[in-house]
Amino acid sequence: MTQKFEALIIGLGPAGMAAAIELAHQRVHVTVVDENPEPGGQIYRQPPGDFVIEDKSFLGVRYRVGQDIIRQFNQLRDKITIFSETMAWGFFEGTTMALEHKGHIELVEFDKLILCEGAMERSIPFPGWTLPGIMTAGGLQKMIKYQRVLPGKRFLLSGASPLQLSVAASLVKDGAEVVALCEATRIKDSLKLVPEIIRQKGLFKEAVSYLFPVLKKSVPILRPYSVISASGDNRVREATIARVDENWTPIAGTERTFEVDTVSLGYGFMPVARLARLCGCAHAYDPVLKSWKPETDIFMQTSVANIYTAGDSSGVDGADLAEVEGRIAGTHAAAELGKMSMDERDRQLKSLFHTRGSMKRYSKVLNRVFSPRSGLFTIMEDDTIVCRCERITAKEVFAGIEKGFRNINEIKRTRVCMGPCQGRTCESIVTELMLQKGIPIEDIGHMTIRPPITPMPVFMFEEYARSL
Ligand SMILES: Cc1cc2nc3c(=O)[nH]c(=O)nc-3n(C[C@H](O)[C@H](O)[C@H](O)COP(=O)(O)OP(=O)(O)OC[C@H]3O[C@@H](n4cnc5c(N)ncnc54)[C@H](O)[C@@H]3O)c2cc1C
Repeated sequence: MTQKFEALIIGLGPAGMAAAIELAHQRVHVTVVDENPEPGGQIYRQPPGDFVIEDKSFLGVRYRVGQDIIRQFNQLRDKITIFSETMAWGFFEGTTMALEHKGHIELVEFDKLILCEGAMERSIPFPGWTLPGIMTAGGLQKMIKYQRVLPGKRFLLSGASPLQLSVAASLVKDGAEVVALCEATRIKDSLKLVPEIIRQKGLFKEAVSYLFPVLKKSVPILRPYSVISASGDNRVREATIARVDENWTPIAGTERTFEVDTVSLGYGFMPVARLARLCGCAHAYDPVLKSWKPETDIFMQTSVANIYTAGDSSGVDGADLAEVEGRIAGTHAAAELGKMSMDERDRQLKSLFHTRGSMKRYSKVLNRVFSPRSGLFTIMEDDTIVCRCERITAKEVFAGIEKGFRNINEIKRTRVCMGPCQGRTCESIVTELMLQKGIPIEDIGHMTIRPPITPMPVFMFEEYARSL
């Protein structure tokens, strides 16, 4: 059955919740879709309904901050149709989104679509990176905070991101041993953030709340260092790190090896814009994020009429800015639907634009400081796996480039980016390898995407076909 709404929002992180709140306040017939059971997105993730975390201090400062917008959203639940545990996987005929809910297909027609797909973590391969026990910082944080599971005893953290400090703080609070926190950026780079951190009281408090437990437990913070290899049998047992230069190229002779059972990798985030690509929204390559992202105007409208994108899916600027962008998109869409006067719209947008401007200053500096440098992409060996789903190695990717594949869609003929994750993890790695071989980004381009954007059970399509 097809349901019709004036506005459809995909993603219930800060951006999606904020957009929904604005639209519901303006009496727009709005529906929201998220694959998780509860609203919150990545940062304000709620533990599943039947799982109680008594000591909320484990959830950190950010969890408390998020309670405010979650409360606002929950107060409007009777005005919003919510599809939870639902995946948006296809876009058809310009105004219909296909959803999967518990193995069934639902279709939603919309006048305005706001995509708030969020961000995902960047992977940088090195020899041994696919061993069990090696995981991304965000994945590890999710286990510790929301599932209260410590997946190891001796941890090594490596990356270039403020998230590393937050993960280290969670680990030591839970009694884990952190043998080293390796940060690839230099202290002089991080100092560029200090004026903004001091200016924004909330940021300062948050930074101190992470730094204090880490310093108290005397966790060695090594910088500029990065993990360069790992070894083990059926699990990581040793990790080797090295000092890195300005370009993050490891410096020979500086290697140190640690006995560990878990390695966390935190090399920052990239926008998730699978649906934006599927909808045909124009994208531009962001050399700071080293990622493609949808182009938007000041109202968060994409190049496709009636489609907006807000939050990290439009540029990885953090939770606070995601919320402001969601409000901008929601306000603009409500006005376009004739629910508010242009004067009212302009009054609201004026203050949101002002807030966005001052927040952007901080996120710009942050993204520049932690922008991944190309040196780390040189530590792959011939047999290092680049595409985990299809087990394609660096050597096979280079062979494809030598054959003359200059476009990311052409190089898929080597089977790279062709597995179940559909290039989510390896597209950015392959792009970097192609850039290093001197192919311009305009020639490489980005992957085209086809529905379903994520693996779906075949019986679901059979059932749908029978129902027609
Ligand atoms: C793993 C991870 C850990 C992070 N940890 C921190 C941290 O500790 N501190 C910090 O300051 N920032 C952190 N961030 C960044 C922070 O989460 C974001 O800046 C912020 O959440 C952005 O909000 P958003 O609304 O744009 O996206 P998100 O909060 O990511 O919300 C997007 C939502 O959309 C859903 N979604 C996406 N596509 C679909 C689809 N096709 N169908 C259905 N649902 C879909 C996702 O499941 C998610 O719930 C983290 C990010 C990630 C990815």
